[in-house]
Amino acid sequence: MVYIPVEKKIRLDAHNDVLMKLIQHSHEQHRCFFDNRDQYLEVHWSALKESQINACFYAAFTPGFGSTAENQQLINRQFAALLHLEELASHIGAPFRKYTGGSLHPGQKNDFQHWAIQTIEGAYSIDSENALGLIDQYADMGVKAIALVWNHGNSLGGGTQSSLDLTPLGRLVIEKMEQRRILVDVSHMNNHTFWSTVKASTKPLIASHSGAYEITPHVRNLDDLQLKAIADTGGVINVVFHRAFVGDPTTASIEDVADHIMYICHLIGPEHVGIGSDFDGCDAPIDLEHIGKLNSLDRLLKRRGLRLRQRNGILGNNLARLLMQDAPDQHAGVKGAPKVDIRAIHHSITDITTDYEIRYTLNEPCEPRFWIDGIEKKLMRIAAHTYVIRVTKEQLEGYHLISITWGSENQQRKTTLINF
Ligand SMILES: [Zn+2]
Repeated sequence: MVYIPVEKKIRLDAHNDVLMKLIQHSHEQHRCFFDNRDQYLEVHWSALKESQINACFYAAFTPGFGSTAENQQLINRQFAALLHLEELASHIGAPFRKYTGGSLHPGQKNDFQHWAIQTIEGAYSIDSENALGLIDQYADMGVKAIALVWNHGNSLGGGTQSSLDLTPLGRLVIEKMEQRRILVDVSHMNNHTFWSTVKASTKPLIASHSGAYEITPHVRNLDDLQLKAIADTGGVINVVFHRAFVGDPTTASIEDVADHIMYICHLIGPEHVGIGSDFDGCDAPIDLEHIGKLNSLDRLLKRRGLRLRQRNGILGNNLARLLMQDAPDQHAGVKGAPKVDIRAIHHSITDITTDYEIRYTLNEPCEPRFWIDGIEKKLMRIAAHTYVIRVTKEQLEGYHLISITWGSENQQRKTTLINF
């Protein structure tokens, strides 16, 4: 159990779609995250500072309309956008960092630090060919939560516009996610898939952005039995801000968001409640237009009778506790296994005909294996510790996750996102 003292607060928003918004624009425009020059973002640097948001879940969103390969590209491009934000941040000296594990506590002297936590919304990149390899790569990349579906069905289960139940592959993926300490996110699931997920999982579940069906009877919200079931796993329901989910689609306000929070608090206890705004992917409440307005929500919850500990829990500590419980195992690999340094994560690519070669040089003998986007590729040994992978041009266009594993049972691993 991770204890967070009452006076400590880790403000954490469990869902935004800012990466999706960013990749729809040119690479150069990513810097508007830091200056918000065009004012089209609801999650941006000065707003995050204004509300002292220590961390957000940055979702890599896939709607599921494309092929598996297209959805993989979409997710990888959003990973790349986040890495680009981190790079921009280091140029301007902004304390914005990608989270890979460990403490989310703010620094001793109240130094503001913001952690970008990677999540996936709608795992339409996963199929039976790549599932387990891809979950490993996502975990390596620092992904901390995956919503198995968006509104449509996929190889794992069904969203709210589908009648599919959780599939055997979905069950396998949940097991693998739990092994790799990735939270299972039930937002967007239909009832069948939801209840099968409750049965299949053994760890706390989260809903990253959902409301209470009893207050607003929308298919994206959770009924009382579902809310109780999530609480029984030790999980957290993060209340969404999208107007149509919390009240009237045109006039819903911060008061409606507070209604949902208060209702769920009374039903299952404030320790199971969080916030998942869905900023940059939703119609924000009329008076809660961007993440910089979160202090208003805190004040409103105080007026509604919630104490400091409860409010701090809801505004982030509850969800942070789940993440930090899982922190120690973050770095994959077995203690005591031989350390292998990949000198050439660097890969020399030679364009012979239309195919590519990726070369790896390892500093000690081992039996490496190699993956691209969840699929294992054959390695050829060309010198003592040098291996080559040959792939076609088509296989490597765009952004790809490449991994090399080695050591006992191949549990040592290194994964990189590459843009060819
Ligand atoms: Zn969503």
